[in-house]
Amino acid sequence: MHTQVLIVGGGPTGLMMGSLLRRWNVNCRLIDEGEEITRESRAIGIQARSLELFQNLGIVDQFLERGQIGSGAKVFLNGKERVTVNFGDIGREDTPYPFVFFLSQTETEKILVDDLKKHHLNVERQTTLEDFYQDDKKVTATIRKRNGKEEIVTADYIIGCDGSHSKIRKILDLPFEGASYESEFIMADTQVDWDLDNNRLMVFLDPGNIGVHFPLKDRSRVLTVRENHDMPETTETTSYPATLSEIEEHFKEATHRDVKLHDAEWVTRFHVHHRCVRQLKVRRAFLVGDAAHIHSPVGAQGMNTGLQDAANLAWKLALVIKKKAKEDILETYHSERWPVAQKLLKFTDRIFSIVTTKNKAAIGLRTMFFPLFARFMMMGKRGRDFMFGFISQLNIHYSPSLVVSAGAGQRMPNFETIGGKEIFDLLKGYKFHLFVFGERPYNERLINVEIHHLPSSRFKTNGLVLVRPDGHIAFQTNDVSEKSIIDMEKYLEVSGIEHEF
Ligand SMILES: Cc1cc2nc3c(=O)[nH]c(=O)nc-3n(C[C@H](O)[C@H](O)[C@H](O)COP(=O)(O)OP(=O)(O)OC[C@H]3O[C@@H](n4cnc5c(N)ncnc54)[C@H](O)[C@@H]3O)c2cc1C
Repeated sequence: MHTQVLIVGGGPTGLMMGSLLRRWNVNCRLIDEGEEITRESRAIGIQARSLELFQNLGIVDQFLERGQIGSGAKVFLNGKERVTVNFGDIGREDTPYPFVFFLSQTETEKILVDDLKKHHLNVERQTTLEDFYQDDKKVTATIRKRNGKEEIVTADYIIGCDGSHSKIRKILDLPFEGASYESEFIMADTQVDWDLDNNRLMVFLDPGNIGVHFPLKDRSRVLTVRENHDMPETTETTSYPATLSEIEEHFKEATHRDVKLHDAEWVTRFHVHHRCVRQLKVRRAFLVGDAAHIHSPVGAQGMNTGLQDAANLAWKLALVIKKKAKEDILETYHSERWPVAQKLLKFTDRIFSIVTTKNKAAIGLRTMFFPLFARFMMMGKRGRDFMFGFISQLNIHYSPSLVVSAGAGQRMPNFETIGGKEIFDLLKGYKFHLFVFGERPYNERLINVEIHHLPSSRFKTNGLVLVRPDGHIAFQTNDVSEKSIIDMEKYLEVSGIEHEF
């Protein structure tokens, strides 16, 4: 049977990929070897940029109802509180979500599966990709179904959302370059009785231990990091399970206080790796999410990055499949997203190495300078904006390889327009939007682009802003003359995108 896109892997990345492609009516199949969605809470930190994507898709309320807004963060050194950050003081007015949000990955996947069903796509469970090859015209894949039978599937494109052990990556023979950290993580989703407020993210550092507390709606996640050379070199944890009393003992040492952990739902031990491929695309095959890059859990970035990878790729693939854009546009998936993965790996590696250093001098420096540095960064708006902008993924912008105009590649910010409406109230449905600021009405030659006229004296300059489905600016100009519209259309032509999408 032929399908336009075969998505392999129904974790958060694959579910998002399917849901976005279906919004463009692309014919897809989504297979997953697992019996059901993950029961492990895994990614609990959802960043502002992901919430903005969920808002665009009309599903953000389901997240907000089920999860917990982190009100702020505290850093403790040797048990003493040294730095406090209130997310309310972050001062980012260009997003409705100036905070970190906590919800278990199981709940996130449930919401995405429901959304997928609404767009008429079901995950084919217990169905495994065994092999595939590709030629200039198509991909031919062998899949094994739940009844044990083999099926040959042909597809225009195949997308590897099959996680860190990706079969697609192995078949493509792409090395997963990087290394493993020596430290071991033990964590539990549990009830915590102690003298501190369970609504906060808290980090505890002392020379020998690291402990972190994350707030969840009805419980907490506690995590400790230690060096353990006896730990097997694997991410599989079942063969070397952790116990709640073990993590309680480590957590007490890290926090320097009396702590009681009880009624745990998930206790696990794992090793962390930092790895990335050199190519996100090989002809008709793409790698997305953990299949392409994995990093330390510092900053809660993994799942969020996979969701944004999917948002970057889906509309480009849809345009090409519908023959509305040249195939070259698909190369920009790699040129835009690979640098993001590289930067993230460097950042998380640097922070993780500082935090887990075993070097005595470095530990001394960390203990002395970390609180000063953190206070300095959070004191001024610029420092806060830099830190929050990076972690929340709001500051990600692409080099304008696709279309070139000042401001192109940046994320469209949110702000109030007219009648109490905000930009993000208008920016909906994973499609192109054209904002026309100023008095001159636009003559609507662009079909399938939602056009918003915002004729108001409140805007200092007139202008046009064309926003891509993933929320990044494709083109912007400060006037709305006929010439600027012709310029925009030229840019689209140069990019190989037909205007009548
Ligand atoms: C303890 C922990 C805490 C974390 N915390 C955070 C956090 O706070 N924030 C954050 O952003 N990230 C976090 N992460 C990372 C996050 O969980 C991953 O980045 C995310 O799950 C990646 O999603 P994915 O869909 O790319 O891959 P996965 O979730 O690994 O999904 C891959 C899917 O592919 C399927 N599959 C594999 N091979 C095949 C095959 N051959 N055929 C068919 N199906 C196949 C698997 O069954 C699986 O369902 C955390 C991870 C862990 C372990």
